[in-house]
Amino acid sequence: MRIIVCLLGLVLLWPVQALDASGPDFAKQRAELAAEIEEEVRQTSEHIGREHFHPEVLKAIAAVERHRFVPEKYRDQAYENRPLPIGFGQTISQPYIVALMTDLLDPAPGDTVLEVGTGSGYQAAVLARLVQEVVTIEIIPDLARQARERFKRLGLENIRAVTGDGYFGFPEAAPYEAIVVTAAGDHIPPPLIEQLKPGGRMVLPVGGPFSVQQLTLVSKAGDGTVRTEHLLPVRFVPLTGGH
Ligand code: SAH
Repeated sequence: MRIIVCLLGLVLLWPVQALDASGPDFAKQRAELAAEIEEEVRQTSEHIGREHFHPEVLKAIAAVERHRFVPEKYRDQAYENRPLPIGFGQTISQPYIVALMTDLLDPAPGDTVLEVGTGSGYQAAVLARLVQEVVTIEIIPDLARQARERFKRLGLENIRAVTGDGYFGFPEAAPYEAIVVTAAGDHIPPPLIEQLKPGGRMVLPVGGPFSVQQLTLVSKAGDGTVRTEHLLPVRFVPLTGGH
């Protein structure tokens, strides 16, 4: 009898699962990823000057469905702590790096943040949970369009996705409390320093495509003085464009 009831349960459950077009939600994998990142923070604390990330940052990592930002064929690898290809020779960054850059920006709920290098839109989606508005700019039109569609599908209404050369920032929505650049150039773009609010922070990789890049934290003081700090070696795709 019990077997029949179980079987009946399975039969009844089957169509419900089959009808759920959103697929598995990977919540457990996301929680494990957040825990893995916490461990990596401890291991790298010497470089990054912190033992922990803000709990809100880890909460955002545990909440944003990274599998919705990677191509279908990489879905089952979406919660591994590593970068993955997203087409057009570009990559979605490693989750630890996304969390680190987010934490370094010290995001506050009222902030407007500029991201250069939308790519999949994952970094923007993580930031969008922590700030008022994210303006993100992507130079490859197809990637920008795909990201815009994805934000719409996921109901992420506080992300403004722009197509263009982010070297020049996005003056229309400036100044920004924080700026994050997810592609590496050999210098800090002066237009971005200009578009940073006094008291603001910018995080970006600096270095050539074939040399060691340094994850760099730029802080603009209230009087406009700029301080830069190199934190740790990283590897990002190159910042392209006409500059
Ligand atoms: N933040 C992304 C990572 C994308 S990789 C994510 O979460 O998935 C970096 C992206 O920067 C690529 O999509 C690349 O096309 C873009 N990029 C490179 N140079 C750029 C430029 N000058 N302006 C805007 N985007 C640029």
